[in-house]
Amino acid sequence: MFPNHADPLVTAPAETAILAMLLAESPLSRVELARRTGLSSTAVTKAARPLIDDGYLHELPPERTAPGAGRPANPLTVTSGREFFAGVKISADTLYGTVCDLRARMRTTIHRPLGERDPDSVSALLIDLVAELLDTRPEFRERTRHLGIAVSGDVDRAAGRVRYSVLPGWRDVPLAKAIAGATGLNVTVENDVKALTVTEHWFGEGIGTEYFALVTIGAGIGSGLVVNGRLIAGAYGVAGEMGHIGIDPAGPRCHCGQTGCVEAIASSDAILAAVRGATGREDLDFDGAVLLARGGNPAAREVFARAGRAIGTGIATLVSLLGPERVVVTGEGLDTYDLFGAHIKDAYEAHCFKAAAKCPLTLRPLPWEEWARSAAVIGIQALFP
Ligand SMILES: [Zn+2]
Repeated sequence: MFPNHADPLVTAPAETAILAMLLAESPLSRVELARRTGLSSTAVTKAARPLIDDGYLHELPPERTAPGAGRPANPLTVTSGREFFAGVKISADTLYGTVCDLRARMRTTIHRPLGERDPDSVSALLIDLVAELLDTRPEFRERTRHLGIAVSGDVDRAAGRVRYSVLPGWRDVPLAKAIAGATGLNVTVENDVKALTVTEHWFGEGIGTEYFALVTIGAGIGSGLVVNGRLIAGAYGVAGEMGHIGIDPAGPRCHCGQTGCVEAIASSDAILAAVRGATGREDLDFDGAVLLARGGNPAAREVFARAGRAIGTGIATLVSLLGPERVVVTGEGLDTYDLFGAHIKDAYEAHCFKAAAKCPLTLRPLPWEEWARSAAVIGIQALFP
């Protein structure tokens, strides 16, 4: 029986705990599940039963155990293809779509360039893209009921609205309702960096951590925070905006209205503007600025160094406040890591408070499809209360 459309698959705490653990790390024995979740073996067996009956979990053949070690154990594993999840990332110029299985593995990907970028045009293209994704295989159409959409900007996930995005005309757009109506899917909209943070926390570098942070560098500087095992949005939905921590009162003006934000110094646009200003080369584009710095131009190199110091100081502020076990640094800005990586690390170490500096920075280059995958993971999250 297929569960009701929008209801969570699991509601009891024990079911929630074991399904979440098995999605990230299958297979696991009931004994191991009990040890890791703190549940009794009886509670694990009881919680697993309905998930096995519904086809979400299955038992593997018994593992060989040492002679005299008692009854052999049948490890439990997720039935990956029991349900599929569509995900679409809306970027400034392209829609990236994917269908993932229960373990967040991408089964197919499609991308389409955006023409007009107003909400109605993007929505129409997105609806077509989802139809195309689901038509790739009959089982996608049969077994997909959740769609996640990731978009940059200020997103009210609970209300399914994009309050603000850099795309033209995107002010308070009721995106989830419009797309759900057209596709028949249960739609969740999330900020793209938060979606990526959830994905890294559940399926990547952050597995098993209670405190975790992800920082994106590139066109914008973004960050997502996990506290007590959960992504935090904060009282106003914008917790963890590392890009807008003010680090230099004498720094450049930021598009947010403040002065000296990390993003105003270290975004790719900010770097380009500063290289143009420092060299008098108004004709440069970003690639040109990179080439100039790699060629040894001192003014261009100093601009990248300053950007690296800004990013490192911003991450140190996050780490000193939050004490995460690890921080993942990602985004297209990693392409120029050779120019500012050492400065990021130096500023990070110089500004972290005491033991907080033990927190490692992990670099994680992510292709664009990974952003679509993170949107699908937001759909997987809808299985949980
Ligand atoms: Zn700002």
